[in-house]
Amino acid sequence: MGLTGIQIFKLLPKTNCGECGVPTCLAFAMNLASGKAELDSCPYVSDEAREQLAEASAPPIRPVAIGAGVREFKTGGETVMFRHEKTFYSPTGIAAMIGSDMDSGSLDSKLKEWNALQYERVGLNLVPQAVALKDTNGDGKAFTAVAKKIAEESEFGLILMSDQVDVLKGAVEACTFKRPLLYAATKDNAEPMGNLAKESGLPLVIKADNVEDLIALSDQLTGMGLKDLVLDSGAREVRQLFQDQVAIRRTALKAGNRSLGFPTVTFPCEMASNLEMETVIAAMLIAKYAGIVVLSDFKGESLFPLLLERLNIFTDPQRPMTVTEGIYEIGGPDEHSPVLVTTNFSLTYFIVSGEIEGSRIPSWLLIMDTEGLSVMTAWAAGKFSGDVVGMFVKKSGIGDRIGHKKVIIPGYAASISGEMEEELPDWEVVIGPRDASLIPKFLKDFAA
Ligand code: SF4
Repeated sequence: MGLTGIQIFKLLPKTNCGECGVPTCLAFAMNLASGKAELDSCPYVSDEAREQLAEASAPPIRPVAIGAGVREFKTGGETVMFRHEKTFYSPTGIAAMIGSDMDSGSLDSKLKEWNALQYERVGLNLVPQAVALKDTNGDGKAFTAVAKKIAEESEFGLILMSDQVDVLKGAVEACTFKRPLLYAATKDNAEPMGNLAKESGLPLVIKADNVEDLIALSDQLTGMGLKDLVLDSGAREVRQLFQDQVAIRRTALKAGNRSLGFPTVTFPCEMASNLEMETVIAAMLIAKYAGIVVLSDFKGESLFPLLLERLNIFTDPQRPMTVTEGIYEIGGPDEHSPVLVTTNFSLTYFIVSGEIEGSRIPSWLLIMDTEGLSVMTAWAAGKFSGDVVGMFVKKSGIGDRIGHKKVIIPGYAASISGEMEEELPDWEVVIGPRDASLIPKFLKDFAA
């Protein structure tokens, strides 16, 4: 549980020297409590106080890093039950499972197929992150060979799954550079599995039959000095798994139970007989509260909606996604090209720029900072009024790059045209379409 500002203040030197950038230790303590300052900014905190503060300020659910390179991801680190309370921080890792008996040719084509599943959305590249490699026959050599191939020849992270430590050992040696997640320590193999994770410095899943047993196992493993754990409550039935996910999150956050203060891994692939049902279960788990979901396969029709859901849930609800204010050139515009203006809400930008691109009419797109609000919302909030937009067009410098004085505004903001013309007396304000999908036709007619 986090400390309050007053509790933190008691551990500070109380000299009010101001070297941390604020005038008093109390102000610094308040900033620290609200996450606006770093403890390192005060050079005078004693080692003892530093230790106490670090321990107390550690997130209630430990963030665990998995993988390396472009598909590396962090799971855990969450601080709230509900997204609207603050935000969710670590997007659910999405993995698909293969067996260690897969032949080399099939593995190659599977990895190639999975690697191609990448989606551009609001300027982000949405991808799944990992392959869960399951030991199917206890053949350590075959397991290591497949793990090595995935680690060396693909971008994917790895979940190495076997209940036999000897099977995992070779793969761990070959793939440590990719920081795989080891699966799993149980009550029967906790010690050797814990030792393997400790020696290799890799994160480890602990698996029990229920949440109570998970607590005991977690205490045993943390007692061995392990820090990066991931929890599997063992449930493979939807209702029970849902209850476990909520109970684990709630107990870690509300009761401050450190034994359950770790992210979770879940297996929709072991809970349904087809990918459609797996996808539905995974969709529930992304919302509540799986750290990782493992599917039986990646297929576009299943993966894409899950990636989009994840994108929406793991964005800060208090901070709309934005693009930078400025002049955007689309298709190599020149002095005769049309000029359009809109807001800096990411979705608005990407939809409008996509339609302009689709029209094949080179254009200038002026993006105005409305703090991430869409056109209608910004207009209603007074951030996209005629005088403000007119002033922006004037200051943007677009006038120096074109040989005409016409600017196209969104159809939904038609009512600002009069005010804009007052601000831009020698310009013609043209009202564009309301619906972005009509932009290509509009631009073609406009250019003609
Ligand atoms: Fe207090 Fe440390 Fe800030 Fe000085 S630097 S005011 S001692 S918190």
